Amino acid sequence: MDQKTERVTLNVGSIIVATGFREFDPSVIKEYHYGDYPDVVTHLELARMIDGFGPTGGLIVRPSDRKPAKKIVMIQCVGSRDKRYNSYCSGICCMISLKHAILIKEAYPDTDITICYIDIRTTGRGHEDYYERARELGIKFVKGRPTEVLLDPETKRLIVDVEDALLNRFLELEADLVVLASAMVPAEGTEKLAEILGLELDEDGFFKEYNAKLRPTETKMSGVYICGGTTFPKDVPTTSLHAHSAAVKAAKFLMNGKIVKDQRTAVVKEEYCGDCEFCPVTCPYGAISLVPSDEGHFVARVSDLLCEGCGVCVGTCPLNAIELRNWRPDQMLAQMRALLSINGSSKPLVLAICCSECGHTAVDSSGMSMMQYPASVRVMKVPCTGILQVHQFLEAFKAGAQGVMVVGCKSDGCHYEVGSQIAKRKVELAKILLKEYGVEPERLEMFNMVYIEGAKFAEAARMMVERLEKMGPLRLMGGS
Ligand code: SF4
Ligand code: SF4
Repeated sequence: MDQKTERVTLNVGSIIVATGFREFDPSVIKEYHYGDYPDVVTHLELARMIDGFGPTGGLIVRPSDRKPAKKIVMIQCVGSRDKRYNSYCSGICCMISLKHAILIKEAYPDTDITICYIDIRTTGRGHEDYYERARELGIKFVKGRPTEVLLDPETKRLIVDVEDALLNRFLELEADLVVLASAMVPAEGTEKLAEILGLELDEDGFFKEYNAKLRPTETKMSGVYICGGTTFPKDVPTTSLHAHSAAVKAAKFLMNGKIVKDQRTAVVKEEYCGDCEFCPVTCPYGAISLVPSDEGHFVARVSDLLCEGCGVCVGTCPLNAIELRNWRPDQMLAQMRALLSINGSSKPLVLAICCSECGHTAVDSSGMSMMQYPASVRVMKVPCTGILQVHQFLEAFKAGAQGVMVVGCKSDGCHYEVGSQIAKRKVELAKILLKEYGVEPERLEMFNMVYIEGAKFAEAARMMVERLEKMGPLRLMGGS
């Protein structure tokens, strides 16, 4: 009891963020009068009443006069699926309402309970049984979002106005207690924590996963994991699964006793850095900071620990002051020239520059599925298409390519967040330059695909070769 709040500093090797979520404050929805009428409560408050050790000892009462609540109306999607507040479905409130309604009905069978809903979503294992059980117990369902909760000044009872969309009629439901199924929103302090840990938030303010489908408990920061409601509201079984996954990943990360990094990291040639501040802003991992140089100005410096080796900074630097170890521009140019040095077929030579993630894996899957595409298509692998610079497309044509394909992840699914989008903009810019030089811009094209789309790659390669055949040979200014 005498314990005081204290700040403790821990030296840790890994962090799991499990800060959960919180209930949306429904008082901002003026028409429901939460905070004005004491008998309008949320499910969190109802849960305290249902609890035998709670403030009412398990009795369901009207907070205004402590009399038993005989008529209860529950309102679903309060602040969820509503563009004014949160457009997403909170996912768990339907089950919470069903559970609470069943618990009350089983304990107090005379209680009249109505649930006003838009859709009842019972997607988990055994969850539909809850819905069936609720129906058997006589819990009523009205399909409609109530427009207002009013207070009858004489009876002091609440009245819920709702249009029943199935029966096409307006209802005025009397209630002793109105329970709001409030949306679930990110926990207090999420933004601050994200800033401290260098993590990203999604458009709804929850922590963003490295990959929502494939790496749902990882973040773009090595050694930092997220689980449970930090990424989105979840029920208990899913949260538990998430927690296990995060714990195993953190344990695996710590097991080595050291951090093993790929050599593929960026390095700044400080003597060329012009302190333009482009790269610190562009780096998706916050790996670049500006530090004072010996010459009295600032230069970019890369943290090897944070750098994921995407090369987006390389493609962004206007002064060519950054290189990726083992992916220097001269190495890439040599690779390009070697690939384009011999054709060996009658078809036009095409350079397909593919990112190491979805792009190149799609090429692999086309090969594994024995899909056919012309042998004149030469595949060059780069870490991420974001590494490419406009002049490299032009170099490819100079080296003998009749056409250039840039193959990257989908722009909203890029493994390095922004790489694909940046590459797309550069391809557009290069097309303008090609036109200026009298070269058909259609000789350069960007394709976005996911790693399993081998057929899409093969189709794109065939289409590109056919297009170039129709165009005829490339004629560069001053050359043939
Ligand atoms: S290579 Fe990618 S992760 Fe590394 S510093 Fe450059 S932009 Fe950041
Ligand atoms: S983009 Fe290039 S010039 Fe600009 S700060 Fe970064 S390294 Fe320096």
